[in-house]
Amino acid sequence: MIYDSFRRTSKSRNVNALGVRIGPTMLRKWLPRILIATALASLLALAQLNVTQKRWYKGNLHTHTLNSDGDSTPDQVATWYREHKYNFLTLSDHNHLTDIAGLNAVHAAKEKFLLIPGEEVTDAYDKKPIHINSYNPASLGIPRHGTSVADTIQNNVNEILSTNGLPSLNHPNFGWAVTAQDLLAVKGLGLFEVYNGHPAVNNDGGGGFQSLDEMWDVLLTAGQKLYGIGVDDAHHFKQIGREFSNPGKGWIQVRASELSATAIAAAIAQGDFYASSGVQLSEVTTAGSDYRLTIEGADWEKMTTYFIGDGGKVLAKTFDRTAVYHFTGKEHYVRARVESSSGGKAWTQPVFPAR
Ligand SMILES: [Zn+2]
Ligand SMILES: [Zn+2]
Repeated sequence: MIYDSFRRTSKSRNVNALGVRIGPTMLRKWLPRILIATALASLLALAQLNVTQKRWYKGNLHTHTLNSDGDSTPDQVATWYREHKYNFLTLSDHNHLTDIAGLNAVHAAKEKFLLIPGEEVTDAYDKKPIHINSYNPASLGIPRHGTSVADTIQNNVNEILSTNGLPSLNHPNFGWAVTAQDLLAVKGLGLFEVYNGHPAVNNDGGGGFQSLDEMWDVLLTAGQKLYGIGVDDAHHFKQIGREFSNPGKGWIQVRASELSATAIAAAIAQGDFYASSGVQLSEVTTAGSDYRLTIEGADWEKMTTYFIGDGGKVLAKTFDRTAVYHFTGKEHYVRARVESSSGGKAWTQPVFPAR
């Protein structure tokens, strides 16, 4: 039918791009080819659109194996995460960079599962544990020590950056080692663990020590641009219980264009992810004048979302499954924490609205 209507057009319109008059015979010969070419071009455009479309990938960035103090082999650990529908995993053994090529040859599947290189650069100052994870580095980072907690952190951050790794400060309250004060002057640190699933890391603070949420707000208020990740820090895959550091407790959902180490690391560095200990978000948007979350979960679950700004102040609180905050233009930063009645939480990243 398209051909018929095309045929009915006046002769003067049947002129190609070069201004050559096209007769009915030429039209009959070329039109099907033009239509096929147009259809192919449309398909190609659609395919390109799909390539640039982003999706969520679930991953755990902090895990141990027999290469340090874990109880299972790298293969067993990779199997656990792959079989539990994670999309990516970092084996972050203490001062050990696992060669993941062989593991990826066995476990990686396009757009489904990938191991990303990593290491827990493990140092201490005055018996306080200073552990900083390195993500997607080109080579092993070596603990560089220092003359104070802050100096030890800075030297190890510099070491990780020199190997092209992405540094992330682990479990600040483990051994009550790191305070917000220690981090105020640190440069080059873009990530820290706002949630760690190990039973001895004191995420909630106490006894005069700040919770990790409180520490985060102190640093953001002081002008640090810091994103918060959630991790397992799993060591135990063979014994399950409250006293063990088991898998499946903390993770991140990263929004990226593809499942590759480069794309995932870049999205994390830009804060295009959220941390979770049990709450799933299907959408997080901060475009325009709104900060908007869409919260998943069972019908019986009650959700409370806190939008938090300068000084840790709660700017807004809502029980809606679509949680929306309207920027006033006066905020220095806004982040959100969603708490489920079942105990899980999600932490979205701070946005810094232009004043
Ligand atoms: Zn550690
Ligand atoms: Zn660890």
